[in-house]
Amino acid sequence: MKVLGHEETKDTIKKFLNKKYNSYSFLFEGKDCIGKKLIALYTARAFLCEKGYDFGCGSCKDCRLVNNLIDSIYEKKEDENVHPNVKLVRAEDGKNIKIDQIREIISFLKLKSEKGKVVIIEKAEKMNTEAANALLKTLEEPPDNSMIILTTSNQNNLLPTIVSRCKKIKFKPLSKETVKEILELKGVDETKAKNFASISDGSLCLPMSILEKENLYKYGKDLTNLLFLFIQGKGVHPEGIVSISDILDKLEVEDLILIMDIVEMFSYRKAIKGEMPVSKYEKIVNESKKFKEAIKKGVKKKLAVEGFYFNVTN
Ligand SMILES: [Zn+2]
Repeated sequence: MKVLGHEETKDTIKKFLNKKYNSYSFLFEGKDCIGKKLIALYTARAFLCEKGYDFGCGSCKDCRLVNNLIDSIYEKKEDENVHPNVKLVRAEDGKNIKIDQIREIISFLKLKSEKGKVVIIEKAEKMNTEAANALLKTLEEPPDNSMIILTTSNQNNLLPTIVSRCKKIKFKPLSKETVKEILELKGVDETKAKNFASISDGSLCLPMSILEKENLYKYGKDLTNLLFLFIQGKGVHPEGIVSISDILDKLEVEDLILIMDIVEMFSYRKAIKGEMPVSKYEKIVNESKKFKEAIKKGVKKKLAVEGFYFNVTN
């Protein structure tokens, strides 16, 4: 698995690693789906590598174990904890990281062993207050030969006392070129990769969701085009919106939300290129928000789509 992009960030991490501290506490902050977890795993590899190379030599026993862990995570195999010295923690129910999970990793970090130990806490903002408080003391006095990496999309959602005890590492959004390159490595053809990269807003979240459901990309584009015809002064197209809303009516709520995200991204692109007035873009975002709330509440999808269209074009 290659780590693409984030060159400056990787250099900063390397500088810290080269100091060969006895223990580390990092906070990786940046958008979702840009590779923070993957780089955290490579940072773990660097820390554990017998030879102590940059991000690990890649071939010693410890590096190979981390490589297996990376494969098992990115190939979506069942067990994420295949490495005896690396633990990953995240909100198991998708909502909260609980105090028991934090207690468990604290005992893990304190276990005596010759090898270093690494804990990666994903979306650390999901720690509930109890859990965050439990972690504080360990961050203050990290056990010997340990590394703790927290990842988050926004450090303001963490307790300031947690943030202040970590070395902050900022991750910038990915460039369009990098998103395109990553998509191509995943087997997406060039044209499609380019199209998806152009609405990615520097992250793989939207492209990856679209890849799973490509028809949604088309619907999002069709809907934007209908809005765009109006914005260009080419009138409203009731027959167009009626036929799209018939199709969208049959989709799941989360698919419709994704389509609206796509519409927003297309509109954003047009607005920054000057092809759409900013006020119109803002109206679309606003109406999209209302649309999402309405369909979550169970408003009939067809009506919601048509309502969205007519509110934007009015
Ligand atoms: Zn190694």
